[in-house]
Amino acid sequence: FFLTLEGIEGAGKSSAAPVLAEYCRQQGYAVEVTREPGGGPLGEALRTIFLDDRLHLDADEELLLLYAGRRDHWLTRIAPALAAGKVVISDRYEDSTYAYQSGGRGVTREHIAELARWAGITRLPDLTFWFDVPPELGAMRIRARRPDRLEQEDQAFFSRARAVFAERCAAEPERILRVDATQTLPVVHETLRIQLALRLAA
Ligand code: C5P
Repeated sequence: FFLTLEGIEGAGKSSAAPVLAEYCRQQGYAVEVTREPGGGPLGEALRTIFLDDRLHLDADEELLLLYAGRRDHWLTRIAPALAAGKVVISDRYEDSTYAYQSGGRGVTREHIAELARWAGITRLPDLTFWFDVPPELGAMRIRARRPDRLEQEDQAFFSRARAVFAERCAAEPERILRVDATQTLPVVHETLRIQLALRLAA
């Protein structure tokens, strides 16, 4: 079972990943928790480059790095774990590419789809939780947690990214479940456990 967690900064994906993993283990599943950008050895090495502001990557350079990393992530981590019957939980995956590189930075969706095909990324997640939060609230949470971290992108960027998540959720309502991430963590986490339990049982 392939589960991905998506959303803009400060939505609470990353704190949900261990909670969901623990829940799955309690239910008797073997679990692989992973993330993007990164996941595999190449992807993790590329993550450092990807996040290096001094390199001033343009949107296409970002996209190429993401897909080199995703191919490695898929081949070395995700596919083997799924083949072994594990639940794979990835903190970000392909929906983030559409939200950030297309919605945020303006590369075309066709371009992304073409690269995905070329890189052999064809398997969609079985379930995606979209942690939906207004960009202002997300930014407030990030500032509270890491006051040193400058906002890399402005609110307009995250509004565009959020709009792409919303569009994808509307287009694939079976796969992408919107979670109201303005709620408190216990409420969000309980919602996630219930929804995941339903899907795992199906
Ligand atoms: O999810 P996480 O905070 O670990 O992501 C690291 C950074 O990578 C984020 O700040 C996000 O803005 C960026 N990112 C991106 N494009 C993606 C995925 C992540 O710019 N497709």
